[in-house]
Amino acid sequence: WGHRIPAWYCDDCGEMTVTTEEKMASCPKCGSLRLRQDDDVLDTWFSSALWPFSIMGWPDETDDLKTFYPTSVLETGYDILFFWVARMIMMGLECTGNIPFHTVYLHGMIRDESGEKMSKTKGNVVNPLDVMEKYGTDALRFTLATGSTPGNDMKLSMTRVEASRNFANKIWNAARYIKQKAESRKQKVTGSEETGKHDAQSSMLHALPDRWILSRYNRLCQSVNELMRDYQFGEAGRQIEDFLWGEFCDWYIEMSKIRLYQGTEGDNQPAEALPPGPAHDDPLPVLLHILEGTLRLLHPFMPFVTEEIWQQLKDEWGNRPYDAVIIAPYPQADASYFDDEAERQMGLIMDIVRSIRNVRAEFTVDPARQIEAVIAAGREFDLLANQIDVVATLARLDRRRLVLQPTVDSKPKQALTLVSGDVEVYLPLAGMVDLEAERARLQKEISSTHQDIERAEKLLANPGFTTKAPAAVVEKERQKLSEGHDRLARLQERLRALSGDQ
Ligand SMILES: [Zn+2]
Repeated sequence: WGHRIPAWYCDDCGEMTVTTEEKMASCPKCGSLRLRQDDDVLDTWFSSALWPFSIMGWPDETDDLKTFYPTSVLETGYDILFFWVARMIMMGLECTGNIPFHTVYLHGMIRDESGEKMSKTKGNVVNPLDVMEKYGTDALRFTLATGSTPGNDMKLSMTRVEASRNFANKIWNAARYIKQKAESRKQKVTGSEETGKHDAQSSMLHALPDRWILSRYNRLCQSVNELMRDYQFGEAGRQIEDFLWGEFCDWYIEMSKIRLYQGTEGDNQPAEALPPGPAHDDPLPVLLHILEGTLRLLHPFMPFVTEEIWQQLKDEWGNRPYDAVIIAPYPQADASYFDDEAERQMGLIMDIVRSIRNVRAEFTVDPARQIEAVIAAGREFDLLANQIDVVATLARLDRRRLVLQPTVDSKPKQALTLVSGDVEVYLPLAGMVDLEAERARLQKEISSTHQDIERAEKLLANPGFTTKAPAAVVEKERQKLSEGHDRLARLQERLRALSGDQ
């Protein structure tokens, strides 16, 4: 493969002639017609050096050549900087008078899980086709695009590819939920940009979660565009994932369920059976708006799943002047949606829910069990009163035993105290756990943690270990010790709370 060497040998006089003509009719020395062209081809990099303009029809002045030469950015690996990049520039200057691109983006090399260079003899080569077959093409692409920083080598770990596959599934499930709700309500968004403007003007009508997610989404658009301009593609992809998974799916969608099932929690009444609430309290337009925009943001990183979802939901997007994500404009931030106060308020609500969830996890409270809570909300009383549905549902609080007041005169006994900003949440333990069993469990854990700490301390006090063992092993042991101390403090605090000393 390549350009055949333009050298001709004369069978009669042995003369060798190099020519710029494609064919040579006769020997320039003896006139013989018995000529042979060299069988070999030029070095592969010679042909590759011509690539930026030869594929555009050069030397003819084609439209393609005029449009696409010179281009802007070349993306390649640093290992062929001299072989390829330097030669393209030399050939470009020589043949066209122009360099072929103004910027070269160098990605790192893909290495195996342990950082070794992939090679056939070592047998550690990962075949991308096998990975795509097992986890999906988008999962591999997303892993490669987000797992690297410019110029740095990357270790390809299958655990990360699997996590990317899970991310693709997460978006798919979120879209399926939104599609189902949209179809059942026959709710449509009319024209994204127009709706966006309308939403911004009537933002006072929006519920707090709407103002929050619209603000977060537009900040994401701003940040991703800046990162893309700065060639920080990996960071851009990571931020889109964090937003989609961490904010949109885990919080906004969960909160939207509360509004879509207005007050029916617990009695299993499907949302479809209810009349839609007032327009400003319907999360569907915002769900659709954010999903549509994030599909466009994510498209360069996960082209297949985003396009498939977009096409399936096409009828719900309303009037879009384009037929596919791939030709849709990249979303830009609309600063009129930025809302610091909504972000602060939602941040507080999320912090409260998170800390209650942490306690539930620590005491292994049955997820279905609704627990008692007393909330002293201070100057955040109005906010908490407005968002009490969200807090109660997401933290699974028992409404009949939920007290919300600006201040609480006497703290409940044998209760945990959680502090989020100005808000104090008291969780009486009796309603949450079997006190006797929990006390016994904690005592057992405390004694086993004591033993772990002693073991680590003994080991680290032994010079035979600290000087002879690999540094990483010693470091790991130190880390275990410090984790043990943290754990012990936490367990002892829980035990104190249980005994009512708090
Ligand atoms: Zn000759």
